[in-house]
Amino acid sequence: MRAVLLGPPGAGKGTQAVRLAERYSIPAISTGDIFRANVSGDTELGRQAKEFMNAGALVPDEVTNAMVQDRLGQPDVANGFLLDGYPRNPDQAVVLDLMLGEQGVSLDTAIELTVDFDAVTERLLMRATLEGRSDDTEPVIRKRLEVYSTSTAPLTAFYEGRGLLLQVDGLGDMDEVTQRIISAIDHR
Ligand code: AMP
Repeated sequence: MRAVLLGPPGAGKGTQAVRLAERYSIPAISTGDIFRANVSGDTELGRQAKEFMNAGALVPDEVTNAMVQDRLGQPDVANGFLLDGYPRNPDQAVVLDLMLGEQGVSLDTAIELTVDFDAVTERLLMRATLEGRSDDTEPVIRKRLEVYSTSTAPLTAFYEGRGLLLQVDGLGDMDEVTQRIISAIDHR
């Protein structure tokens, strides 16, 4: 399986990606996690990404695409992967297609977790108190949701047009959501 996981911030992508990766024995690749690790490690990539992340903005495409290209060149993705948080806009989606094309493979599924915006805002504010992520403050959460609406939401139509889209209700119990996704994938 070569899949991307879509949905607004706070939709539960991270949690579900880890579970699905285990279920299908493929690596879950979270661009947000890779960026955060680089910010913590104070690497060059981290320094390039930090200000954008703290503002709730997207890290520039050149930086993000280069990082993903490098990650997708590693041996553990040979039998598939689940991308969590990439692509975040149609330009990244086109680049992803090109990168996979160079490897002679293609994406087979785009899973979108659909959730209500008010519900995710609440969820993110709650996570702020639990995890202390520096981009989980109310103004930055609002900005991230806005970036989602303008830049990322068009990916729904993009992948629908390619016949790859699976929409799954992301609200409710985490185990139930996992089951919904698995059953959507298995009934493709
Ligand atoms: P996430 O953990 O997926 O919510 O990502 C946290 C932050 O990392 C985002 O708000 C962006 O600043 C940055 N980021 C993650 N993935 C991408 C991406 N595909 N393109 C640009 N920026 C990204």
